[in-house]
Amino acid sequence: MAELTLRSVGKTYTGGVDAVSDVTIDIKDGEFIVLVGPSGCGKTTLLRMVAGLETVTRGDVHIGGRRVNDLDPAERDIAMVFQNYALYPHMSVRDNMAYGLKNRGEGKAVIEERVAEAARMLELGQYLDRKPRALSGGQRQRVAMGRAIVRQPAAFLFDEPLSNLDAKLRVSMRMEIRKLQQRLGTTSLYVTHDQLEAMTLADRLVVLNGGRVEQIGAPLEVYRKPASTFVASFIGAPAMSLLDARIEGGRLLLEGHALATLGNTPGPVTLGLRAEDLRIAAIGLPMRVEYVEELGAQRVIHGMVGDQALAVTDAHDAPLGPEVRIAVDPSKLHLFDARTGRRMD
Ligand code: ATP
Repeated sequence: MAELTLRSVGKTYTGGVDAVSDVTIDIKDGEFIVLVGPSGCGKTTLLRMVAGLETVTRGDVHIGGRRVNDLDPAERDIAMVFQNYALYPHMSVRDNMAYGLKNRGEGKAVIEERVAEAARMLELGQYLDRKPRALSGGQRQRVAMGRAIVRQPAAFLFDEPLSNLDAKLRVSMRMEIRKLQQRLGTTSLYVTHDQLEAMTLADRLVVLNGGRVEQIGAPLEVYRKPASTFVASFIGAPAMSLLDARIEGGRLLLEGHALATLGNTPGPVTLGLRAEDLRIAAIGLPMRVEYVEELGAQRVIHGMVGDQALAVTDAHDAPLGPEVRIAVDPSKLHLFDARTGRRMD
């Protein structure tokens, strides 16, 4: 079994930068976990601590039940796939894939068999004798995957492996990685700043903010019930609109318009509205139209309610006046504490 456990893990770099604070994550055998968050939130640092490329300042890292804090990367039984592929330029694809196995003294027959199997899975058979420079970006990425697969490690660690590929290739490689991981059943920890990549790949997401865990959950769970305004604005596109609202006399008021009846304590709240949960209607909240993003199948209408920004997804292409009315379904509201930003229900 290759569970991967992080227990109150923290990292302070020399110079005093607290990159990661008190992170606890239990990753089950075979699970695909994606660490997601904006630049500088500590994703890479966390991954590198699991890999053994950075020392752990506080807490414990366990791989397959074994505490690995003090083990070298080579002793941790993990394989890492990097953003820049980290292939050896002077070696053929075959030798790049075989390198790790040779290094740990595997027999020739085992190496040949594993490389052939990985090459078949990744459709690299015809490129085995080429050097990396004679490959496309997508093919290089496959070789980097192949190198990880042949080692049959306890866990795969991915550090933004698709960020050097163009948008279309990124989508197809994303699917390939997911299919491959499901087939192999290898526990995986994957770092990205791309929320869409995170949503589509993960069994569970870990949303990081300033070195701390904001929320852990299945992608849809996180999308439907973001734990904070930070998660709400990071997961989902277009981003959830966050507006200053009030609860007064059992009603939720936005710019003087009552949107719902609520039992909550009176006072200011942050109201979260997803564009896809709103629609244009004959009656409802008045919104001044500012600009329209055409996406083909739908459009996103950006506007202002009072002096607050709101986005609405619309599947129609009827001409719009300067003001539209927005119907808000009271069951689709998200309420956050105005002070802490934490979800209220
Ligand atoms: P990105 O998506 O931009 O790669 P990230 O979420 O992976 O960001 P990290 O690279 O883990 O973030 O960095 C987290 C914090 O630690 C940042 O504030 C960064 O400046 C800092 N940091 C990273 N490496 C070092 C280092 N070697 N020494 C000092 N501070 C560092």
